[in-house]
Amino acid sequence: MPDPQPAVASSPWPGGRSSAQVQAQLDALVAQLRPERGGELPGYIPELANVDGDACALAVCSADGELLLAGDHAQAFSLQSMSKPFVYAQALELLGREAVHRKVDVEPTGEAFNSIVELEEDHLPYNPMINSGAIAMSALLHHADPDGAWARLRGMFSQLAGRALHIRGGIARSELSASHRNRAIAWLLRHFEVIGDDIDGALLLYTGQCALMVEVADLAVMAATLARGGVQPRTGERVLSAAHARDVLALMTTCGMYDSSGRWAYEVGIPAKSGVSGGILAVVPGRLGLAAWSPRLDAHGHSLRGQAALRALAQDWGLSLFTV
Ligand code: GLU
Repeated sequence: MPDPQPAVASSPWPGGRSSAQVQAQLDALVAQLRPERGGELPGYIPELANVDGDACALAVCSADGELLLAGDHAQAFSLQSMSKPFVYAQALELLGREAVHRKVDVEPTGEAFNSIVELEEDHLPYNPMINSGAIAMSALLHHADPDGAWARLRGMFSQLAGRALHIRGGIARSELSASHRNRAIAWLLRHFEVIGDDIDGALLLYTGQCALMVEVADLAVMAATLARGGVQPRTGERVLSAAHARDVLALMTTCGMYDSSGRWAYEVGIPAKSGVSGGILAVVPGRLGLAAWSPRLDAHGHSLRGQAALRALAQDWGLSLFTV
């Protein structure tokens, strides 16, 4: 006998919005952001200044893998520091919490992403979301398996995206040619015996992860994988353990937006990670992955339009984790 009341699939989007409503909202937000022309392209990695500063794209991915895209979503850009949460996760997966946290702490810094001040004072990177902590993670992975580390890292990012990701050699070379500050950080890490002698190996791995090319959809799916506790929602594959996804989300909440993490928690209230290519990925645990990309940055190194877009969505959709 047929069910008299066939089940109506409930909407995966906040407030029971339909996919068409969410799509219309994303399109409207991109149109609203286009006239905003503030911010600067990052000058310290020459190749990152050779991009279309006006580009703007948004993506959301529900916990069950539905993906909606708006704006210039077909354009590719480099992952930069949005790689950091996942590289930290891979270090946890391979080496365990104890070994990882002998090399990196879990405290916010209040300093810029490429600061060496805390390192000089406490001899241990404060967290894996800043350059010193991320370089320590790359050194750890490289040391554990010098020949296999890159393939394993690229493999994890490809699983997270659900497609094969590749680096753009020009971006990696450009960053390496100008990475004097990261090299100084690596040498300080060596001085304090956080990392071993293979500075070049660690920096190559770090620069490679930053130069992986993605689209805004990939970021939203990666964020949704964290929202699903490590299961990629479109392939159904478990990429990270639930415990490590939790660790990553905790550090994205306290440290993911560098020295404006406090303001981000206050105004937006969801774990996020930005990169100097202008991308930001953000996670509503159990529910959503969100992503924005637009290359012009504020003084902290975050996309200006990207922050505006995610702030608007978080406020309109009531996403802050601190809302009771
Ligand atoms: N590759 C960049 C660097 O090491 C990443 C910084 C970022 O994206 O915030 O400076």
